[in-house]
Amino acid sequence: MEAKPTVSFEDTAVAFCYKSDAAMRKANFIFSLVNHPWISAIATQSVRVALWLRLPVESLIRRTVFDHFCGGESIQKTSSVSALLGQYGVNTILDYSVEGAKSEAGFDYVMEETLRTIEQAHNADNVPFSVFKPTGIGSAELLEKVQKKSPLDANEKASYERIRIRMDNICKRAHQYQIPVLIDAEESWIQEAIDCLANEMMARYNTRKAIVFNTFQMYREVSLRNLRDSHHLATMHNYFLGAKLVRGAYMEKERARAEAMDYPSPIHPTKEATDNAFNQALAFCIDNKQRVSVMCGSHNEYSNYYLTVLMEKHSMKNADERVWFAQLYGMSDNISFSLAKVGYRVAKYVPYGPVRAVMPYLLRRASENTSVAGQSSRELMLIRKEIRRRKGST
Ligand SMILES: Cc1cc2nc3c(=O)[nH]c(=O)nc-3n(C[C@H](O)[C@H](O)[C@H](O)COP(=O)(O)OP(=O)(O)OC[C@H]3O[C@@H](n4cnc5c(N)ncnc54)[C@H](O)[C@@H]3O)c2cc1C
Repeated sequence: MEAKPTVSFEDTAVAFCYKSDAAMRKANFIFSLVNHPWISAIATQSVRVALWLRLPVESLIRRTVFDHFCGGESIQKTSSVSALLGQYGVNTILDYSVEGAKSEAGFDYVMEETLRTIEQAHNADNVPFSVFKPTGIGSAELLEKVQKKSPLDANEKASYERIRIRMDNICKRAHQYQIPVLIDAEESWIQEAIDCLANEMMARYNTRKAIVFNTFQMYREVSLRNLRDSHHLATMHNYFLGAKLVRGAYMEKERARAEAMDYPSPIHPTKEATDNAFNQALAFCIDNKQRVSVMCGSHNEYSNYYLTVLMEKHSMKNADERVWFAQLYGMSDNISFSLAKVGYRVAKYVPYGPVRAVMPYLLRRASENTSVAGQSSRELMLIRKEIRRRKGST
């Protein structure tokens, strides 16, 4: 039986319902700027230099890209964005996007901040998840050594134990408040160490439902097998598997390292192979929905649509609490708002932090939205279509 389409991503009136005309013009300006490779390169380089020279550009950045991609400079300041999204059924995931000091004190600070996001989620209506990046709470070098099973000296053993304690503190609080927590995925040379910790946390806190979610990067050739193995582990030890599926953000870095160090690239050889793996992973999660809760972390229209079709085929309600769709704030509103409108569970990662500190995050968004083949990005086309529609000329 053919499943009936339940959602369309083409209606820009739905996509940008929460944006004023001024906000649309700003979005048009930002995406037009970053769309051109050379303008984008000059602009991002100028920002780097200006910040390094401590020139007063923060307020300009705050009023433009920061405003578009971030929720505010502190948890409290994200509340108006979160309330606005909530009016349209789109939830918020507070993402402390500061790539801070790599010291024990810095790691403790990120843990404390993550605990504060859980408190905030507990007190708010539409903040259903919390999230953290493992290298925010522990050293990447140490995780790499753990993964390689290199011998650790006494200090390193103590530092590793502190990573585990920080992660446990976060997951314990998430469990106490019943606010699921997403563990972001990182580079392959530390990801197995992260997976081990994530499995330990899931076994401890996912006994009644998925509270801890590990992330599976489907651009990695091993990830489908890892997903199946994680499911097997969850079945054997009788806990629930929380699986956030993403394609993966570090492709160039992964390939460059593999080449430089002369080992086979862990990444699928083509985009099509990554897409297939991602969609198979979605199907695997839905096939095993009795034990798996899934978050589709993607801006890919086909994958999001495919998940709605899988749900329909399995006779699941749109609002089934085991299935979540998530996109980044400031991107792919056509997916988020269209899904939310017909009752799916949708959330936006809403980054926050001081302007200067979230700059690496903003620069990554700029490069991600730069046109490679000279054509306008999908994002820019949708923004322009909506501006034309509002002027009444479509
Ligand atoms: C809510 C959310 C949470 C996220 N969390 C994480 C996280 O924890 N860890 C993380 O690493 N990323 C994370 N990401 C980023 C994500 O991994 C992707 O980089 C990004 O979303 C683009 O992929 P896509 O599915 O949106 O869409 P698409 O634009 O369809 O896919 C682009 C992706 O496909 C893959 N790809 C592109 N070209 C090739 C090629 N030639 N060969 C093989 N593969 C290719 C790459 O992964 C690339 O990023 C997250 C994204 C979202 C929306």
